[in-house]
Amino acid sequence: MKIAVYSRNEAVKEEPRLKAMLSWLQDAGFSFYDISSSEDLVPGTGLLMSIGGDGTFLSASKRVGDSGIPVLGINLGRLGFLSEYSPEEACEALLSGAYSFEDRELLETRIDGEVLGSGSAFSPYTLNEICVHRSGAALLGIDVALDGNKLPTYWADGLLVATSSGSTAYSLSVGGPICSPDSKVLIIAPVAPHNLNVRPLVVPDSTRISISMRSRDESVMMSMDNRSVVLSPEATLDVRVAQFSLKRVRLDNSGFIKALTTKLFWGEDIRNGGEQR
Ligand code: NAP
Repeated sequence: MKIAVYSRNEAVKEEPRLKAMLSWLQDAGFSFYDISSSEDLVPGTGLLMSIGGDGTFLSASKRVGDSGIPVLGINLGRLGFLSEYSPEEACEALLSGAYSFEDRELLETRIDGEVLGSGSAFSPYTLNEICVHRSGAALLGIDVALDGNKLPTYWADGLLVATSSGSTAYSLSVGGPICSPDSKVLIIAPVAPHNLNVRPLVVPDSTRISISMRSRDESVMMSMDNRSVVLSPEATLDVRVAQFSLKRVRLDNSGFIKALTTKLFWGEDIRNGGEQR
């Protein structure tokens, strides 16, 4: 199998554990090439190895786009939710075939209005979330409609729409629920709302979410996973689940609960005596 290798940090490719994994797999007939952008992907690629943490996996997912190439997240440090495997686990699974592919939903965000600035070429697809956020000192008024039905205006620093994959990322920090990755839902959650009575909302993944904003500032920031764009406050957004999904390589012996306990220390309690891990 032809495997593309991506990392945000070139130095990790010199890690002895990674080199050992690549060498074992090469001996077994796998071939490798490095990529930095999606243009580097060559036809016939069987999968993309993302070397790094969950943030690197987000960047890797952007690079495969809608090509259908599965992404395998390999982490040399603390194991994550998207980048869940050590080089040794990944090597064993690839050699034995003990893996499968799971579909992770992506969001597609269409902007109607002026984009004032963008750090990189704009792509409408995100794996974790999109978040509109104030760019200045003023509170942001955010109007959201779900399939055309308006919610009361949010007055907040911002508002995010997250997928189940993103439920353990930014959404978690603003009090959103943790969703198992196969849950077909979207989370709508305000960031620092100036209200006592708003809560994150979970809606079916078929929902079409329209967002408009009011701000005294000249611009609004929108983050899209690990990218950002600057919008005119008059811009409106149309957010929905994309027509294609990201294929993620899932090893047979892995699990979401394991990631919750190892990365987020869920259930860490002296009474559990470490038995949950
Ligand atoms: P970063 O600011 O360098 O790191 C963000 C942290 O989020 C990293 O620890 C990363 O894990 C973790 N992360 C990313 N996706 C995750 C997921 N699906 N589940 C659990 N943890 C996840 O930015 P980055 O590494 O490029 O990642 C961008 C993401 O950061 C955004 O999509 C957003 O969700 C998140 N973010 C969170 C906050 C917040 O919680 N207040 C603020 C801004 C952005 P690794 O260390 O394994 O890479």
